Amino acid sequence: MAETGSGSPPADGRRALVIGAGIVGTCSALYLQREGFRVTLVDRDGPGEGCSSGNAGGLGIASFTPLAMPGSLGKVPAMLFDPDSALKIRWSHFPRALPWFIRFARAGRPKRVEAIADALSAALADLFECYESLLAETDAGDLVRREGKLYVYESEASFAGGQYALDLRRRRGIEVKALSGDEAREIEPALGPAVKRGAYIPAAGQTINPLRLTQTLAELFHKKGGTILRQTVKGLEFGADGPPKVVTDAATHDPDLIVVAAGVWSKQLVAQLGTKICMESQRGYHAMLPDAGVTTRVSVQSSDRHIIISQMEHGLRITGIADFEGLDAPPNYARADTVLRHARALIPGLKSNGMTRWMGNRPSTPDSMPVIGPAPGHPSVLFAFGHCMIGLGLGAVTGRTIGELAAGREPGIDIHPFRPERF
Ligand SMILES: Cc1cc2nc3c(=O)[nH]c(=O)nc-3n(C[C@H](O)[C@H](O)[C@H](O)COP(=O)(O)OP(=O)(O)OC[C@H]3O[C@@H](n4cnc5c(N)ncnc54)[C@H](O)[C@@H]3O)c2cc1C
Repeated sequence: MAETGSGSPPADGRRALVIGAGIVGTCSALYLQREGFRVTLVDRDGPGEGCSSGNAGGLGIASFTPLAMPGSLGKVPAMLFDPDSALKIRWSHFPRALPWFIRFARAGRPKRVEAIADALSAALADLFECYESLLAETDAGDLVRREGKLYVYESEASFAGGQYALDLRRRRGIEVKALSGDEAREIEPALGPAVKRGAYIPAAGQTINPLRLTQTLAELFHKKGGTILRQTVKGLEFGADGPPKVVTDAATHDPDLIVVAAGVWSKQLVAQLGTKICMESQRGYHAMLPDAGVTTRVSVQSSDRHIIISQMEHGLRITGIADFEGLDAPPNYARADTVLRHARALIPGLKSNGMTRWMGNRPSTPDSMPVIGPAPGHPSVLFAFGHCMIGLGLGAVTGRTIGELAAGREPGIDIHPFRPERF
């Protein structure tokens, strides 16, 4: 797909305001700039410090398999009673999350899974091209690596259980190499004997520092004349006519175009526009080991343990856990110790001196698809949130799509599956 931003006519200096400087908002701001908008990026924290900071760094061109898969629901009861499992639910929050789980169950039907994989694979296909285009204007091209991803399995049974997801990828043209345990260890020598089978996807990539990636892009945005404001958006204000205004703790802004890219917090903001979105925080954790004693070559994902082990420029990061405890529940950092325990089963002897723990809120829709497109009834507002487990991978493609929509062009990807009205 060809890049569209840089050669387009300017938007006559129309003013755009992007709420949220995560990876999605920052990429959107850059692409709006390319379209000639005068852009303000607003965040209550620094760029990239939300969910975009502590993730696994995966740039998953093949990460289009949704969370809800045929048979997922059947595994839930056992997972809930296993203290070491990845799935956590706070029962007092469950009644509020129930509509999400009902939709999640529906999204896991085989026909629906095929349609979701089609929509997400088409969007993810352009991810490297979009990041390379943005990073070409910086000296930080080293941030993105394309060394593939290794899925590992600790038994023949779990390898067999993983075939559905691997075939879903193969049927969409992704090369997947099935491996023995020893072949997996040839690709990633740090792995111990617990690994019995592997599957290698050469086309996948990762960033070696997701926070630095967003910060670098935000610096580029600023250097090109963009404004970054550290303010908290309190709400949207409507007058008798004209587009909505954005009210922050410091000012009232009246841009020509508003982009809501506030990750999981977007749900409350867009409710003020009358749009109901089904989205839950799916909280994930990481353990960051600055001195792990090993350096891994490729990103490793364990299907048995639901963790990802990624080499960052500042240490080894282990991520995992899908915790549905509600957006406002305090973090439970013991979950980061759980992911470390799992990693040690795969890479014996990992050292944890100086380890830090982190929690982030994945903005999760029940169908694992983002919300991208115009706000129903508000043509001057665009939505760009709900990127679930693939927001880092999809961030730049979403940014390009926001630029195209703002410029009034047909987007390069089909956004119909991502429409806000689907909820
Ligand atoms: C453990 C874990 C591992 C992950 N691994 C991967 C991976 O390998 N690959 C991948 O693609 N994705 C991964 N993800 C998912 C990815 O991190 C998210 O999808 C992505 O970061 C979402 O980006 P965002 O810009 O939408 O949200 P955020 O990064 O959360 O940004 C939203 C921003 O909005 C701001 N904001 C919110 N409300 C307001 C307000 N009222 N006023 C002002 N500012 C506001 C916040 O401060 C925040 O900076 C992972 C997530 C987790 C938790």
